[in-house]
Amino acid sequence: MRLTGYRVTNESLILTVTLLVLGAVILLLSGPTLFLAPVMVVFMLVVAYYMNQAQHQQLIRTAVPVSEQRSPRLARIFDTCVARLQPGRVRGYVVPSRERNAYTFGISDPKVIVVYSSLLEIMDEDEIAFIIGHELGHVALGHALLNTLIGGMAGVPVSLGVAVVMTFAFRSWNRACEFSSDRAGLLACGSLNKAVTALVKLVAGDVNTQAELQYALAMIDAEDDNPANVLANALSTHPMIIKRINELRKYAATPEYKRLLAQADQQGGRV
Ligand SMILES: [Zn+2]
Repeated sequence: MRLTGYRVTNESLILTVTLLVLGAVILLLSGPTLFLAPVMVVFMLVVAYYMNQAQHQQLIRTAVPVSEQRSPRLARIFDTCVARLQPGRVRGYVVPSRERNAYTFGISDPKVIVVYSSLLEIMDEDEIAFIIGHELGHVALGHALLNTLIGGMAGVPVSLGVAVVMTFAFRSWNRACEFSSDRAGLLACGSLNKAVTALVKLVAGDVNTQAELQYALAMIDAEDDNPANVLANALSTHPMIIKRINELRKYAATPEYKRLLAQADQQGGRV
């Protein structure tokens, strides 16, 4: 059974507001020629579709598909996470890169999950399960589809004022999606400690000892106290890491988490 009960409560509300803002923008831009609004929506969707195709073609040129033959360990982690979360049809790719990143995209099935190779070098199996589970969460909750469409729309030239309003609206929805997907990552790996170290490694790189972890956490915590970061946070698609860690800690203590974790264990076993 598909797990979706971990979606944060205000995510849908923020999306509704975001779509209302988008609708208002379309109406405003169409102005007196209101009948053009549907034409504009179709145009945006077509742009989104072609950008998605182009992105996929480029990916296939550089990335290695996750498969039993080429990466048995990763394939096993990937399959376990899919069995635990049941997100629908997905395909995994590894991109050779020094960057620490992972992302999801796709309009049609299978949706695509991309993991950068450097993460696989510094993370253990449970931490990789958190990263993959996070991306599977984006797929299961429909973020992958919406993000690809919205990403395509972002490619449509609009005036500066409109761009600012849309940026704030979409980014606040993006951040709600990150919290939901972090919960999916936690459900995939089944360990709060591993979820936290995965998030720390995402920003701090390789962390080997408990002392290094404490130091990295203290640095990440200090970032939260800096007032300059409030605006940066409002403009970012991703919440600050310390917020993500704190939200996960709160969620891990809820009975709802324990119920969904038991269901995931039953569906897919542990990594
Ligand atoms: Zn994400």
